[in-house]
Amino acid sequence: MAEPNQVSADLAGPILRLEGVRKSFGKKVITEVLHGIDLAVQPGEFVAMVGPSGAGKSTLLNLVGLLDRPTSGRIFLDGTDTSTLDDAGLTRFRGEKIGFVFQHHHLLPAFTTLENVMMPLLVHRGSPDDEMRERARQLLVRVGLEDKIGAMASDLSGGQQQRVAVARALAMHPPLVLADEPTGNLDTHAADQVFDLLREFNQEYRGAFVIVTHDTRLASRCDRIVAIVDGVIESDVRKNPEGAVLPPGGAGVPPNPAGTSGEPLTPGA
Ligand code: ADP
Repeated sequence: MAEPNQVSADLAGPILRLEGVRKSFGKKVITEVLHGIDLAVQPGEFVAMVGPSGAGKSTLLNLVGLLDRPTSGRIFLDGTDTSTLDDAGLTRFRGEKIGFVFQHHHLLPAFTTLENVMMPLLVHRGSPDDEMRERARQLLVRVGLEDKIGAMASDLSGGQQQRVAVARALAMHPPLVLADEPTGNLDTHAADQVFDLLREFNQEYRGAFVIVTHDTRLASRCDRIVAIVDGVIESDVRKNPEGAVLPPGGAGVPPNPAGTSGEPLTPGA
């Protein structure tokens, strides 16, 4: 069985590339929701996806997350054309390559926090082992929940549950993490903690993060803001590490190559 991903240090190719992605719904009346999306996300990029309700953000995230297939166009993930994978292959590939953080944590309430974080590894490898337990334990330490390792997920606060969900998303060290309104259910303090964790993991593992958010304050702290309006990319803006907007010519390079800061992780209290 393959080991969890070691994110490639090769910055030459995007981790995610969309070419002319369209998505329609309906049979008798067909409604096209995404009208030809072209997008490339580099390893280590920390991207906010914003836009009004109904613009197509969740639809796009479902496609990128390999939870649904485009009506036309192609999605390349870590160099693989995902249209060539059958459903079983897609499921396996998704488990290896993508970590998910949803608005609702989706933890299994009858399991401990440790078991929840181990879940992606269990699905991947079949049966628990000491290395898996240790990896999950370390992740829980990193998200500041060492004292909750044996607690049932249902006994945690909302902010704590979402931090467990972040740890679970990182269990496989996926090269791409997708987050759909990850702070949407949290107060400002807990939202900041969760956002800071995503950022710290982004810098430590150099995974690419795509975060759908309505929170303009958090979006402004991302390296790049992609705005979806009426099923098209209306704007795509990268910033340098100081927060200044880069000219369009600077858009080919991730502005803040994650993992170069050397900052240790400092989990929230
Ligand atoms: P956002 O996440 O930006 O709020 P969505 O991607 O959820 O937008 O929705 C975009 C549009 O696609 C909406 O008009 C929505 O009604 C429509 N839509 C989304 N999913 C489906 C579906 N399964 N069937 C039909 N229409 C859908």
